[in-house]
Amino acid sequence: MKCRLTTEAVLAPGSVRAFQLPARSLIRCINPSGNQVIDVWAFVASDISEFMSMAHSRLHMGRISPIIGSTLVTNRRRAILSIVADTSGGVHDTMLAACDRERYQLLGCNLRHSNCADNVVNAMKGLGHDLAFVPDPLNLFENVPVAIDGTLEIRPPVAQPGSYIEFRADVNQFLVVSVCPQDLAPTNGAGKAPSPIKLQVMPFFS
Ligand SMILES: [Zn+2]
Repeated sequence: MKCRLTTEAVLAPGSVRAFQLPARSLIRCINPSGNQVIDVWAFVASDISEFMSMAHSRLHMGRISPIIGSTLVTNRRRAILSIVADTSGGVHDTMLAACDRERYQLLGCNLRHSNCADNVVNAMKGLGHDLAFVPDPLNLFENVPVAIDGTLEIRPPVAQPGSYIEFRADVNQFLVVSVCPQDLAPTNGAGKAPSPIKLQVMPFFS
């Protein structure tokens, strides 16, 4: 693979970054604290009405969370992201919607709270695209075990500090990464403040 590191960034809690990436690019998401959840979206660059879909990906993978070798697919069942490395232990979530204004209001926050849903809308707007709605994200490092009776629970992440997950882009795409600012649920650790993450993006050059 002909990739070279062109972007390395530390993203603060609550911040967002968007990238336009050619197919075969690599993206590494590093979790310095081990406690931080990262929401990820991918949209096909030529037509953003085709996007990474968690519902379609769960059936394609035959699992509710991805592992090394898993391919996530679009709402038109085409490969869009594949996992090529994961040192985190493989606990990620595909079940939950992104946090949004209403989620924080329901948790008792009456002030405006930064949130991942606004982040992806604003990031895509910055690239010149208005989202018709916010697709469910891939929630990296989020620990939402589903019990045999069907109940689910948000628990603190179990990733080790400094662990990472690495993807390959399977089509030309817009990739959006939001550092979840959730501080009213144990999403980013019980009693812990959200923390920065590190991103390495290696675009493919033919
Ligand atoms: Zn969030």
